[in-house]
Amino acid sequence: MKLIDVHAHLETKRFEKDLKEVVERARKKKMIVINAGVNPATNRRALEIAENPKYSDVVKVSFGMYPIDALAKEISSGEAEGFLRDVEKFDVDDEIKWIEKNKDKCVAIGEIGLDYNFEDYQTDEAREMQKKVFVKLLKLAKKIDKPVIIHSRKAELDAMEILEKEKTENVVMHCFSAKKSLIKRGVDNKWFFSVPPVITRLQHFQTLVEMVPLTQILTETDSPYLSPVAGERNEPANVSVTISEIAKIKKISEKEVAEQIWKNAEKVFGF
Ligand SMILES: [Zn+2]
Repeated sequence: MKLIDVHAHLETKRFEKDLKEVVERARKKKMIVINAGVNPATNRRALEIAENPKYSDVVKVSFGMYPIDALAKEISSGEAEGFLRDVEKFDVDDEIKWIEKNKDKCVAIGEIGLDYNFEDYQTDEAREMQKKVFVKLLKLAKKIDKPVIIHSRKAELDAMEILEKEKTENVVMHCFSAKKSLIKRGVDNKWFFSVPPVITRLQHFQTLVEMVPLTQILTETDSPYLSPVAGERNEPANVSVTISEIAKIKKISEKEVAEQIWKNAEKVFGF
């Protein structure tokens, strides 16, 4: 039985001391972990981890551009703490070129998307800038034929409309927190939804799992965030927590859940 974590941030400071042990626990569970960069610094750090022979059997990389980072302004929010983020300005087009040059080293483009959560970025102008960057990244993904892993926070409808307009087909909605009608819309579009271990604490994800066919579900952790236990650091091995929750909701065995989700991952990422 193989397990998949389609979205983690192992390059963050919170894994600096014990990354080896964290990856070993994932390896014991026969996992593949897709580690997501969010800006130039973390894309390179995530690539370094994925290319390190100590980790490369387990850890793969997806290159991304977090919507807020892409605005190239300083992040003032406390949420940025713990990231090895490069808050210096960077050129979006240069980074897109770098990703294209390194396309064979990544399994996906992400995380990318829209985020209307931060106070400083709620102007129309900032939203338009985010949308422009998002479209560029979707065009890149299409050009290099990679799936996209989408972050959308308080911006789900806009993100979905852009994905539809760009006719992006191979889509993973990560940590999707929109209302039921939008979940349904994503299901109809044949997109995938990746479910984090925080499902144990959030009814929303339980409802999502009820609504989405198992053939369109993936597992993620967003480590170190979204832990099944409040206040604890999350890690990829916690995917099994999500598997057991899904098994309960779908009323089938954990083995059946894990096998189908692995098949889904093979389909999306072409392993
Ligand atoms: Zn993330």
